Amino acid sequence: MGNMEQVFETSFQEMTWNGPVIFMHWVMDQGKQEVKHITPNVQRFFGYEPEEMISGSIPLLSIIFEEDRQKFQIIMKQRIASKSPFWESTYRIYSKDGDIRFIKSYTYIKQDQAGNETSIFSYLFDQTEIQNELNMHISLEHRWATAIDSAREGVWDWDLQSNEVYFSKHWKKMLGYEEHELPNEFSEWRKRIHPQDVSKVDLEIKEHLQNKTELFESEHRLLHADGTYRWILDRGKAVKRDRWGNAKRMIGTHVDITERKEIENLLHKRNEELERLVEEVKELSITDHLTTLFNRRKMVDEIKEAQKRFKVHGQPFTLAILDLDHFKNINDRYGHTFGDIALQTFANLLKAQIREPNIVARWGGEEFIILFHNSNGQETRQQLLSLQDCCTDDLLKYRMDSVRLSFSAGVYEYTSLQSRESILKHADQALYLAKSLGRKKIILYKEGLPIG
Ligand code: GH3
Ligand code: MG
Ligand code: MG
Repeated sequence: MGNMEQVFETSFQEMTWNGPVIFMHWVMDQGKQEVKHITPNVQRFFGYEPEEMISGSIPLLSIIFEEDRQKFQIIMKQRIASKSPFWESTYRIYSKDGDIRFIKSYTYIKQDQAGNETSIFSYLFDQTEIQNELNMHISLEHRWATAIDSAREGVWDWDLQSNEVYFSKHWKKMLGYEEHELPNEFSEWRKRIHPQDVSKVDLEIKEHLQNKTELFESEHRLLHADGTYRWILDRGKAVKRDRWGNAKRMIGTHVDITERKEIENLLHKRNEELERLVEEVKELSITDHLTTLFNRRKMVDEIKEAQKRFKVHGQPFTLAILDLDHFKNINDRYGHTFGDIALQTFANLLKAQIREPNIVARWGGEEFIILFHNSNGQETRQQLLSLQDCCTDDLLKYRMDSVRLSFSAGVYEYTSLQSRESILKHADQALYLAKSLGRKKIILYKEGLPIG
């Protein structure tokens, strides 16, 4: 024997006598199997003595697990008929003490010239340990899934390679289905997502699959069998990834959060309503009821702001107090209701003529204040003169009669720090002068103005 052959022989012996591979030579003769040779390690794995097997006291077929026996025979016949010499298969056999062992076998067939006797050489690997471990794994997962699959949570288990998804009983029940009703396909979940949520969910899934998020967590609506949408909190995690981090398998849970969402939505709506009401109240608190101009309170705030702006940025402003002339006469002649209409008409004129950021308010009675930003006394005077020009015969009518409106105004130019009281006092002094000079006048306050 050459050196190499010797090495081969030794290693073959190592594998089949002491090692994990059982080698068996058997023949098929008119449908009967007869073991010619089997390595002694068969005793270690299956408990049978080689002699028992060779003598035929334990027929080969009898130790094959019932359910696999037919499959075993069919494959055998097919292989012999096809003259395809090699094949591998898996099946279960009974060990001598009744245990079930999992076998993987590699088989080679050789027929004699006449085609009568068939020699078969098999290498058998015992895979029971591996199989048990797999089974254990499966049953652990099963136990885990049934434990979580409570009345509150449904479980899903997504194999990304086959795109199969296991949906637990409760997962289906949550959407109104019986266990047998939904096939285990990814699309069964995906197609039920609300159209408005689908792109968001796709992104959330993608980010987790690409390992960009630690956990997949998504709130979205799913279509129930009854045609309504249910809010679902879906949480999952990839439990298997490839070497590049791409997910291969993901497991997660579903919780129905429809009730919570409905309460949230209700609260949200209420909040919006409240916000709107608050806005309305705010608006009301700064609005004059009759004219819908700003009211006195708002004007006071605006004056304060203007003073601040002057202090910080040196931005000047002017303030004009307008008082309608002989307004009492209008009330007296046409009645109080018409007086109100006159006030509204004048207010509308102010709204139309005085542009932002300048501010108009009804100060009280038939008095109005205008705050002109970034403006000097002369510019303000000009604006008021053109306002006066707008008070034509057409502005206000009582039936067919024109009712003439005019106003007097006192203007104060804010160019140095002053208190609000002093601004108003000075503007009032100018107004008083305008009245005493015969009304329909616009007077700019100056130091030393005659005080009435
Ligand atoms: P003057 O040119 O000096 O300002 O004369 P006047 O008549 O306008 O001044 P006076 O202060 O004597 O009268 C103001 C009038 O404005 C008295 C009051 O009844 C009237 N008035 C004040 N507020 C309202 C209101 O809301 N509606 C109506 N219709 N009249 C009002
Ligand atoms: Mg007045
Ligand atoms: Mg008046």
